[in-house]
Amino acid sequence: MATKLPSPPRVGMVSLGCPKNLVDSERILTQLRADGYQMSPDYAGADVVLVNTCGFLDSAKEESLEAIGEAIAENGRVIVTGCMGKEAETIRARFPQVLAVTGAHQYEQVVEAVHAAAPASLSPYIDLIPDAGLKLTPRHYSYLKISEGCNHRCSFCIIPSLRGDLVSRRPDAILREAEKLVAAGTKELLVISQDTSAYGLDLRHASWPLKSGGEVRAHMTDLARELGRIAPWVRLHYVYPYPHVDNVIPLMAEGLVLPYLDIPFQHAAPSVLKRMKRPGNDAKVLSRIHAWRDICPDIAIRSTFVVGFPGETEADFQYLLDWLDEAQLDRVGAFRFEPVEGAAANLLPDHVPEELKEERYQRIMAKTAAISAAKLAAKIGRTFDVIIDAVDDEGGATGRSYADAPEIDGEVFLRDAGHVTVGDIVPVAIEDADEHDLYGVPVGA
Ligand code: SF4
Repeated sequence: MATKLPSPPRVGMVSLGCPKNLVDSERILTQLRADGYQMSPDYAGADVVLVNTCGFLDSAKEESLEAIGEAIAENGRVIVTGCMGKEAETIRARFPQVLAVTGAHQYEQVVEAVHAAAPASLSPYIDLIPDAGLKLTPRHYSYLKISEGCNHRCSFCIIPSLRGDLVSRRPDAILREAEKLVAAGTKELLVISQDTSAYGLDLRHASWPLKSGGEVRAHMTDLARELGRIAPWVRLHYVYPYPHVDNVIPLMAEGLVLPYLDIPFQHAAPSVLKRMKRPGNDAKVLSRIHAWRDICPDIAIRSTFVVGFPGETEADFQYLLDWLDEAQLDRVGAFRFEPVEGAAANLLPDHVPEELKEERYQRIMAKTAAISAAKLAAKIGRTFDVIIDAVDDEGGATGRSYADAPEIDGEVFLRDAGHVTVGDIVPVAIEDADEHDLYGVPVGA
């Protein structure tokens, strides 16, 4: 039976007041889009309506109250944010049915209120951020979406039919958003899209002038370089191994972009890749990985694989295991093939029985855990920068190195870290390792 996809909740937005308020509205909507919400252009189609108010003058306050009243009359499920949040009592007295009231710049609180009012269920089949991303993104890292849609037609995927062909955002708009995020406290930008390496193809890789002078081309390499100048850490996700990807490796060696590549290979056996209709399906990928490591020896490569794809034979699966031995990927996620409603792969012959999928899943997880453990053990005794995600009351802290994207990769557990705060990037001496995580102490502690 095909897996049914959840439909995303829809949010309506009424934004009043000055350009600063508009920027806040954009930031809230960007976060909600990343969290799996869709926008509704009208009251009727919205599961919840956000009113971003202005309270600068009495006339603006009255306009805000009228807008809240209209949203309640038209939809009924309303969250109020913005400058009038300071007057929560007035709002609640007049509109007791308002679901939540938050103040200006309280992004986290307003997004949290939307999550409570209309919970989003992310789907691993269409959403880019991990399920755990439903937890609010803390200020020190942010997802930055650079395009929507995809030109490929992988047989297990329904994204092109849902989201259409690739539409890239203008590079100047992306850089402006990145600057705003960094000004608001972001230290790490996680670049996402369905196919980051295809960025700008639809714009014919045209150039845009920059406010600061010069220009930027709508191309992954140029965008990565500019982002590297804006944010301390830039992490690239969903990159396909096209030849031009080789050009971002020197940026990693220079320290402009984290030496981390998330490449969803999905399989290695040529016949399976062919049936999957995967892009970048190139027999020379292994030699390219070796060449990348020659330029940037510490590069961490993360990937995902599907086991039990229709027609996958034992020989295909063994090919994949042998390929992994050779590729020595740092981080691997595996999935058992599931037919998603509407995917072309569902019609392929020779579906793999569930018990066999499970057995192959266990085998690939054991293989990749052993590779990961060996690679992490080799880091003991070295020092790496770690971004702090959490601190505890007992002098411990949890963070991530360049090789760890939030939620999907490992963590670095620190002792004697009472002096660090969330969002700091600190050098850490690695003392121990296990299959997925590292243990260490801040240098000089
Ligand atoms: S590259 Fe393939 S799997 Fe990825 S979004 Fe496009 S069609 Fe789907």
